[in-house]
Amino acid sequence: MPGYKHLFIPGPTNIPEEVRMAMNVAMQDMRAPDFPNLTKPIFEKVQKVFRNTTGRVFLYPSSGTGAWEAAIQNTLSPGDKVLMSRFGQFSNLWVDMAQRLGLDVDVIDCAWGEGVPVEAYAEKLKADKTHDYKAVFATHNETATGVTSDIAGVRRALDDANHPALLMVDGVSSVGSIPFDQDALGVDCCVSGSQKGFMLPAGLGILSVSKWALEAHKTSEYGRCFFSFEDMIKTNDAGYFPYTPATQLLRGLDVACDMILDEGLEAVWARHHRLAEGVRRAVDAWGLKLCAKEPKWHSDTVSAIVVPEDKDARDVISTAYTKYNTSLGTGLDRVMGKVFRIGHLGWLNEGMVCTALSSAEMAMIDCGFDITAGSGVGVAIRHFTETPAPALKLA
Ligand code: PLP
Repeated sequence: MPGYKHLFIPGPTNIPEEVRMAMNVAMQDMRAPDFPNLTKPIFEKVQKVFRNTTGRVFLYPSSGTGAWEAAIQNTLSPGDKVLMSRFGQFSNLWVDMAQRLGLDVDVIDCAWGEGVPVEAYAEKLKADKTHDYKAVFATHNETATGVTSDIAGVRRALDDANHPALLMVDGVSSVGSIPFDQDALGVDCCVSGSQKGFMLPAGLGILSVSKWALEAHKTSEYGRCFFSFEDMIKTNDAGYFPYTPATQLLRGLDVACDMILDEGLEAVWARHHRLAEGVRRAVDAWGLKLCAKEPKWHSDTVSAIVVPEDKDARDVISTAYTKYNTSLGTGLDRVMGKVFRIGHLGWLNEGMVCTALSSAEMAMIDCGFDITAGSGVGVAIRHFTETPAPALKLA
């Protein structure tokens, strides 16, 4: 098909040209004496994106799932009791991993479309006088349902109970896109990946840990090898890796972090909010609902849009793909066929969001939805034209 193939899934996201070009370099020697000139500034920049000043970051040649595993294996011990909740595909998979790695998981099941049950966490933590819970897990942004959870609330629950458990956060589809401040939130392990807010191909598991997580590491009893903090620290401190690093991705990460930090984290968060608001107004105008059950859970990186009961969201997705060259995100697991998702994160602007909305709108009309042409795109345009956008600085 002529024209761009539009990508509006919630990761992998669109890659800025500067990042793509930065990765288009000849292979280089990862043991060369000047290799640390590349790597050491990257560690610092990534820490800034997480707002982590107390600890350090680990960059694994894995996906986000690897960083989940690294966080568990390096800070906890088999049989440790942990508190988790599940309300979507990814929070579910994290519970599954914790169970398979032999943790004693106390899991709270919530409806899909809800977020971390902060009050239930608070009650359980208060009742745990003997501090049996060694860690509390929270999925910041559940990508499957478009739900953002209240991590500050989880921190408060820990503090109010004076509870020393580690706070483990899945920030795969939040970090670098929506407000996240690791220091302020007292997050001990925050997991991310390269293919979402970091605007890179998949292939890096990014883990940002606090000094308390590094302390906990000293008594962690898991066997570990590939994800070992010790091996990483020993080599990273000199600017190298314990195995062959994904050098191209590191080059891209360097530029992507520069772009995020030059724009400014607050500006990046504000841009995501403004663009997401355009999508939400379109959904309203179409007469449809989000999977997120309450506005407090609306995600600024992904919207999961519920289709009417007599429709199958997969038809919308396949029509958008085959007829309009546009990838929308599919519904995962129990919301398969019930929702389609628009990923609105990373390297994105108003025109791109309008493209996503018009492709979705055309596909829905083709699939017999009762939608007036231009209704969703129209309100998004009105939102974008009537709310202030950061002005382009002309040289
Ligand atoms: N957690 C969340 C919230 C995600 O969205 C994803 C992937 O989409 C993952 C974890 C797993 O990351 P990966 O696919 O990079 O292993």
